[in-house]
Amino acid sequence: MSQDDHRHDHDHDHDHHHGHGHEHPQSADDPAIRVEAIESLLVEAGLVTPDKIDALVDRYQHDIGPMNGARVVAKAWTDPAYRERLLDDATAAIAELGYGGAQGEKMVAVENSDEVHNLVVCTLCSCYPWPVLGLPPSWYKSHEYRSRAVREPRAVLAEFGTELSTDTEVKVWDSSAEIRYLVLPQRPEGTDGLSEDELAALVGRDSMIGVRMAGAGTADGVDS
Ligand code: FE
Repeated sequence: MSQDDHRHDHDHDHDHHHGHGHEHPQSADDPAIRVEAIESLLVEAGLVTPDKIDALVDRYQHDIGPMNGARVVAKAWTDPAYRERLLDDATAAIAELGYGGAQGEKMVAVENSDEVHNLVVCTLCSCYPWPVLGLPPSWYKSHEYRSRAVREPRAVLAEFGTELSTDTEVKVWDSSAEIRYLVLPQRPEGTDGLSEDELAALVGRDSMIGVRMAGAGTADGVDS
């Protein structure tokens, strides 16, 4: 089966209704509203403080956040055998670096090149690989991004400042409860002498979602 066939099947088979809520935004079933309600109740009951919740969110955004994914990418750039393993079985390769768990049980890595540019979306809600990227930015969860990423990916990319050659094929991957995607961005030009740590610093969250190039105005941990 070619990759194109796979994507086709995925779009149609991917069942967002199993074990994963996809309620209408703005309804009482909206997870964000429910979370807010639960937070209010917990604070009222004196079980937590808003500060503690903020600290937890901050931890996901900064510590467990996109730096994990950046380390995966930097290792793939510098270690060809690791790159192979990542593209072959991303879940296992990511686990080699100690990352995994909830919202990242089945990971797939897709590699950008001059020929192909990969872009990740969750058309139905906000499925996102938490163990490598932390919490999703608000734009990723927006109705606008979820619908436009599929319909007009090049226009969306251009708004992020990512202009692709017309020769470059754009592949859009629809995340689901079952599969989460990590984009392996292209290694920027002129980075041959850099260490793995220095390379990781060039890898922003947005480049691993596929809306930006690595090294191009990244937005690690910033909900932009
Ligand atoms: Fe989803």
